[in-house]
Formats: sequence, structure tokens, C-alpha cells
Amino acid sequence: MKVLVADDDNTFRTLVTEILSDAGYEISAHENGRLAWENLEAEGADIAVLDINMPEMDGIELLGKIRADERFKSLPVLLLTIRAFTEDQVQGYEHGADDYLTKPFDNDVLVARIKVLERRILGK
Ligand SMILES: [Mg+2]
Repeated sequence: MKVLVADDDNTFRTLVTEILSDAGYEISAHENGRLAWENLEAEGADIAVLDINMPEMDGIELLGKIRADERFKSLPVLLLTIRAFTEDQVQGYEHGADDYLTKPFDNDVLVARIKVLERRILGK
């Protein structure tokens, strides 16, 4: 099970990578949305964890590209962001996010949310 991770914050990108690697997932981590999109197109992924605020291409724009693409429109996407405002969460869901987690987050909660996406959307 491969998780595409996009976050411009080195600390969080490393943290998410370590948490999900320890939980048994294969990780493909990138520092902005453009690099994540290029990798997704080239190599695919099963689930995506995207930060919203990133340079070059932010998480909302990347989510839009994912949902507009026949190959990836059903890809489970969890948005991960420091923004805790209601309108940002609503914007994320309206753009097609499946779940939303605000930083800082509990490690076990991140793994639990990814497992829910795996179970509900991938039918496992
Ligand atoms: Mg960011």
C-alpha cells in the first residue's frame, strides 16, 4: 500500500513518513504539489496525504488535478494542515478531500485515519 505524501515542511514530511513507514506503508514523499503530481503521474499511489499550504502547487490545486484525472479521481485523499478554520476544511471537502487532519496531530490518529480510508474506500 503506497502513500503519496506532499508537505513543504521538512519536519512534518519526515514525521508523516516515519509514522506511516512504521505502520507498514510504502511512502513517496515530496516537498511541493508539483513534484508530488509528477511522481503520481509517473508511479501512481494508493492513498494521498497532502498539506494545503505549499509553494509551486498547493494541496487544494493538487487535489483538483487528482479529482479531474480519470486515473486518480477515486484516490483517497487526506488533507493535513495547520489551518484549523472551518472554511478551510469545507473548501477541502468541496474540492474532493475524503478526510482532514490538523497539525499538530496524534501519531496514532494519523495511522487510524489512513486505515479508515484504506478500509472504506479501497474495500479492505
Ligand atoms: Mg505547508
